[in-house]
Amino acid sequence: MDLDVIIPAYNEEGNINLLYDSLTTNLVDLKYTLIFVDDGSTDNTYQKLKDIYNKDNKHVKVISFSRNFGKDAAIYAGMSATHAKYTCIIDADMQQHPKYIKQMYNFLENNEDYDEVAMVNNYEDDSKSQKFFKNTFYNLMKKITKQNYVTGASDFRLMRDYVVKSILNMKENKRFTKGLFSWVGYKIHYINYKPSKRLSGKSKFNFKNQVKYAFEGILNFSTIPLHISCFIGGIISFISLIYFIVIIIQKLFFGIDVPGYASLMSVILILGGLILLVLGIIGEYVSRTYIEIKNRPIYIAKRTLGFDDEIL
Ligand code: UDP
Ligand code: MG
Repeated sequence: MDLDVIIPAYNEEGNINLLYDSLTTNLVDLKYTLIFVDDGSTDNTYQKLKDIYNKDNKHVKVISFSRNFGKDAAIYAGMSATHAKYTCIIDADMQQHPKYIKQMYNFLENNEDYDEVAMVNNYEDDSKSQKFFKNTFYNLMKKITKQNYVTGASDFRLMRDYVVKSILNMKENKRFTKGLFSWVGYKIHYINYKPSKRLSGKSKFNFKNQVKYAFEGILNFSTIPLHISCFIGGIISFISLIYFIVIIIQKLFFGIDVPGYASLMSVILILGGLILLVLGIIGEYVSRTYIEIKNRPIYIAKRTLGFDDEIL
């Protein structure tokens, strides 16, 4: 098989048929399998996938989750089911046009020294504040993880089989796929593209989810917040020590009483706040350790189509 295409889909009933038609048209001269991962959809996504499977079981496989596990878990499930020379990940909503798959495929066929091709969203339609937020995030990630993050590099990408294997080797439960792509390294070729408008339905990544996703990335790929806490703690301790010595000298040698209820209160409040903040940061890491140590499955497949006896 030349190509496996992984399609994570959560409540995409309005897009599945058109996406399938477009993929079929664009991949016509390749040996390919479409691996749809229904991420616990509550609409008719699974029914639509079943219809497509019944029509074209030579090219279609379906994994359907017991509940919504998130796009990153869906990508992991799809990757676990791949066997082809190349694997592609594409959204189900037609924002990432299937015509680019062939372009990525041809690039890897003709450039042996590259391991992966990634499509880069140029954020043309984003507002100024969105652009600023995204740029800051990518630059921050680059700085604190020392990994290579390209602004706008999307999950819409095509990779060789050994890249997939490396990503599958990372078994963590909280999967920040962008970080995993960057962590495994490899030589990546980037192609700019402009995502289309969503065909039907709503985006699942609103601003709140994006902020959550950004924090997830920082906490999963860096321990720098802990080092910053340590640093601030050190500075405050040092200043406090100096101040303590000054007060003692004032009292012993000059007989000056320490004045000020207000200053005392503000110091207590600032320090109390800082201690809680640092505890919170430590808590974030402890909770992640707790979740990872339980070693729960990344997803649960309730039903599959086209997988024979394979256990997923
Ligand atoms: N998706 C998923 N599980 C989720 C959320 C999203 O499988 O919990 C899929 C979704 O169906 C789509 C892709 O991930 O195929 C990207 O999601 P979306 O279009 O909502 O994100 P955006 O394009 O707005 O970043
Ligand atoms: Mg989308």
